Amino acid sequence: MANNETLIEVKNLTKIYKLKKRAKVTALNGVSFDLPKSGMVFFLGKSGCGKSTLLNVLGGLDSFDGGEIIVGGRSIKNFTSKESDTYRNEYIGFVFQENNLLDGYTVAQNIGFALDIKKQSGYDDKVNSVLESVDLKDFADRKPDSLSGGQKQRVVIARALVKNPEIILADEPTGALDSDTGEEVFNLLKEISKNKLVIVVSHDRLSAQKFGDRIIELKDGKILSDSSPLTDGDYGKAENISFGGGKSGLPAKRVCSFGFGILIAKPIRLAFCVLICLIAFVSFGVSDAFSCYDRQVALWQTMKEYSTPCIIYEKYNYEYKDTYNPIGNFGLKRSDYEVLKSEVKSSRLDIAYLGHCPDIREYTVNKNSDTFFSFTGFSEIDKSLVDDYGYTLYGKLPTSYDEVVLTKFTFNAFKKYGYTDGVSNKQINVYDDLIGCVITNGYDIYHVESFKIVGILDTLFDEEYYGGHIYRDEDVSDVVVSRYNHLKRNCTHNLIYLAPGYHENVVLNFWEWENNEENHGRIDFAYCPFKGSDSSTLSNIRLEEKVYDAGDGIHYSRFRTAGDITYLIDQVNYEMRFLKPLFFWISLGTIILSALFVLYYSSGVIAEKKRDLGVLRAMGASRADVIKIYIAQNGIFVVSLVLLATIFSAVGVVIVNANLAATLGVSAVLVSYTIRQFAILAAIAVGAVVVGIIIPLIKLLCAKPVDLIAGRK
Ligand code: ADP
Ligand code: MG
Repeated sequence: MANNETLIEVKNLTKIYKLKKRAKVTALNGVSFDLPKSGMVFFLGKSGCGKSTLLNVLGGLDSFDGGEIIVGGRSIKNFTSKESDTYRNEYIGFVFQENNLLDGYTVAQNIGFALDIKKQSGYDDKVNSVLESVDLKDFADRKPDSLSGGQKQRVVIARALVKNPEIILADEPTGALDSDTGEEVFNLLKEISKNKLVIVVSHDRLSAQKFGDRIIELKDGKILSDSSPLTDGDYGKAENISFGGGKSGLPAKRVCSFGFGILIAKPIRLAFCVLICLIAFVSFGVSDAFSCYDRQVALWQTMKEYSTPCIIYEKYNYEYKDTYNPIGNFGLKRSDYEVLKSEVKSSRLDIAYLGHCPDIREYTVNKNSDTFFSFTGFSEIDKSLVDDYGYTLYGKLPTSYDEVVLTKFTFNAFKKYGYTDGVSNKQINVYDDLIGCVITNGYDIYHVESFKIVGILDTLFDEEYYGGHIYRDEDVSDVVVSRYNHLKRNCTHNLIYLAPGYHENVVLNFWEWENNEENHGRIDFAYCPFKGSDSSTLSNIRLEEKVYDAGDGIHYSRFRTAGDITYLIDQVNYEMRFLKPLFFWISLGTIILSALFVLYYSSGVIAEKKRDLGVLRAMGASRADVIKIYIAQNGIFVVSLVLLATIFSAVGVVIVNANLAATLGVSAVLVSYTIRQFAILAAIAVGAVVVGIIIPLIKLLCAKPVDLIAGRK
């Protein structure tokens, strides 16, 4: 009969606890016995005689120092750690005195953990049938703390049974129960012992006598008596059992839920830590964004935000190489244009001439209004210009010297103030009202040239960006007026567009009274299309960093972007040069603080739920499972922290931008939260967690499950 085979052979087993100061306790001192495949065996003895030690050693929860334990023909001493995990998971079911249920989980989940570790399927059926066998059918969804002591102990038995192990090890299973419930539990174990080996450790002689098939008494780590020892020949030996086969390992879902359980074990501490870390992380994020302030990037982003249609370049001369305070802007010579053209990564580079240009106010009825812009100067237009800048043209392109195209921007001035040729006034409502009208280059210079308006070009001027104040007579703030002036000086929205090839004519004709070498080929600024999404745009703007020899042997030159947005950025640029290092130190300080907080928190939280981990280990969970649980726990922590910090920092940066911009009078993108801040935050958080938990985790992995359960390590 199979049940008569010997399952466990214990030979001369010795276990010595080494205490501090070289003291030793010999808990088991040469214990030998054989146990069969079924039946209920009691180990009886006074407290401290070594019963628990024996059970823990038998169950693979603790090591031993001498002798042998042979289970199913295999010596458990030589188990690999995987075999040991499988042994605990598949062959052993533990029932401890203190109920060791996991508090945060339902009865069904507690039982399910044992199956999870084995990656078993058909989960619900097994859990339900085992609950039925311990008479707790309707308790599947209850949490342990709503059960009585006897019910909890039956859940523990169900958990031990669900994996259908060969051996049930019960350490004082009724120790915490009153005698009636104790009987109930013993009856259950007795029932189980019909076809399994149930080893019960107890100091309750009466129960042992009532339920035990065999009673082995221990005293001071030695066997005192054995009611019915097996003698050689009584039973056959069990065949070699193989351990370590099959799949094991907690599934990801359980790993995460367990990790999360550890995370929220102390919710107030967690909330406090997250809050502190967030404050530190966000102040890092914002101050680092500031310490990364870059004039060109701010410029680029602001231009992008407001869909500026082009980048304008001017040439400035400087006394010193590294200063931003120019001594003058003398326009570009043809040779400068060639240098610029080779630097600018753009398929086209157009030119504008600003001198001696008609004044728009001469042709409006309200000549006194000075809240709108005049014409800036001349440029040339052809179809490719319209296309490349994304403009739209109404009317036709100019084909001769006396034909020009005006912009929608200037059309609006005529629309508001009316057109006059000096003799009669005309109301302007639609483009066609202005087409055919004539402007001249004023009355005060040598040449008087007339230009007929043949088309209106929409240059995508964003009036909203200026708060809709353009061409309005109402009071506007000094900041806005100042920006208008900058826009007026360097702007393509109010150029007069000539037919191709006539730029030079304008320059020469208007400067004839001063026709010298210097004015030949004169260019005031050059411009190219700006496409915000184009990555070459930033490198175009970065031309400003380059300093050229001005050619006179004394001065330096730099091509700089022009226009009101450049002006705007330069308003803060000066302050930023002082603030940047300040923010650098703040961000350095806050990131160190953040790292310390995370480190402090993560090294503390690992101490939580050690007992539960011990229980999992006793059920057969491997060290890898424990590592995975901590990776999940800290992963959830770090990911949420970094995400929250990123969101808050990004919002913080937006708020700071808005505030800064408000002092400037308009919106601007001065600093931005980039991948850099995100990467530093993530690296610091992950690094601090790793540093924080590595030593406690190693300790935890080395600790024996019994010690974890008993809370000794
Ligand atoms: P029982 O379960 O029979 O009460 P134990 O097996 O718990 O006895 O303990 C046997 C002896 O070993 C006792 O003297 C106890 O103090 C000692 N002992 C048990 N566990 C440890 C331990 N982890 N470290 C040191 N001594 C221990
Ligand atoms: Mg004990």
